[in-house]
Amino acid sequence: MQLQVQTVLNRVHRFKSFVYSDVRFIERGKEVRIEATIEARRNAKSRCPICHETRPRYDRQNTRCFEFIPLWGIAVFFLYAPWRVNCPEHRVLVEAMPWSQGKSSMSRALMCFLASWAKRLSWWETAKAFGSSWDKVRVSVQWVVEWGLAHRALQCVEAIGIDEVAWRKGHKYLTLVYDISAGTRRLLWIGDDRRRATINGFFEWFGKDRCQRLRFVCTDMWKPYLRAIQKYAAKALNILDRFHIAAHLNKALDETRRKEAAAYRKRGNKIILKHARWSLLKRVSHLTERQAVRLKELPNLTLRTTRAYLINENFDQFWRYSMPFWADRFLAAWCDRAMRSRIEPLKKVALMLRKHQPLILNYFHAKKQYNSGVIEGLNNKVRVVTKRAYGYRKLEVIKIALYHALGDLPSPPTTHRFF
Ligand SMILES: [Zn+2]
Repeated sequence: MQLQVQTVLNRVHRFKSFVYSDVRFIERGKEVRIEATIEARRNAKSRCPICHETRPRYDRQNTRCFEFIPLWGIAVFFLYAPWRVNCPEHRVLVEAMPWSQGKSSMSRALMCFLASWAKRLSWWETAKAFGSSWDKVRVSVQWVVEWGLAHRALQCVEAIGIDEVAWRKGHKYLTLVYDISAGTRRLLWIGDDRRRATINGFFEWFGKDRCQRLRFVCTDMWKPYLRAIQKYAAKALNILDRFHIAAHLNKALDETRRKEAAAYRKRGNKIILKHARWSLLKRVSHLTERQAVRLKELPNLTLRTTRAYLINENFDQFWRYSMPFWADRFLAAWCDRAMRSRIEPLKKVALMLRKHQPLILNYFHAKKQYNSGVIEGLNNKVRVVTKRAYGYRKLEVIKIALYHALGDLPSPPTTHRFF
């Protein structure tokens, strides 16, 4: 038997109530395309697009064109003249067509296809690779994300992590909530800004029942977070996570260095501290040779920064304990030492840690299940998406891109794996 495109279409994209009546290859100058006419099967009835019940036909519309997945670089279109149905519940509407979605001129299969490539390539690259446009890729991803959000399961969330991220170089923030329950790593929710109302907004959306089932919440030491958790998820163990504590320590160290370098500059000394920044922020074991040399020079200067660095390094010991009792003793001693250091930024961190001691120790009570790697890893992926996001100036588009990349969303059902 000779191969016909129709045969292939019937194999990969078949519907119960519709058939491909005719497939043509069309050449107009340089433009080539494949057109497949679709007809309703004889005796098939039309269905309401909302309730999916069969309904009496009302009238027929003009032929519409639906873009399908390109074949060997050739654009493929479906042609179909849809009926309008008269649904007693939903009135007169264009019938349900299983290959299409609302008013879109792209078929569902094409949207799933483009969206799945947009997970591996940038949206621009996807558009270029498949002869599409950035906006069509955007529409596709948006539809797939909306479908996924509507169909995802939220019953089993027992551990979440709350974090914030800056976008658009500057002072725009998003609050991100991750599901970090055992075996799960996904972005659960995105809130505009990072205010008290933002985080409360998450818990309101998540709902009372689900909040009651939360057992662990990992956050930074920020009062509105802590308050919201007490208010909405009182049964959960609030863990102040390692990633954020490390960030506070690094910030204090950087501030110490900057202050000291500024003081030296005032006195006219050319100072190496400016360049030492990155070596100070790195762990000793990760330093390059040149950076290590610079670090060796530091003790000779008996700089404040060196002391701050050593006190910071010492904190690492804290995470190695497994018994809360010993971790607690260490933390108290460390805070005393930091307080005596007369280094203001460090003292600030020590005060903060002291104040939140019980919450910090929850990490050990949770048997170290929720370490920094989880949130840090997700946070890094978020940065990749927002950085790659040229072209997504708008907040709504960034959100879609984040859900798409990190939401681990279910995908709409397809008749065939096209990729
Ligand atoms: Zn209906």
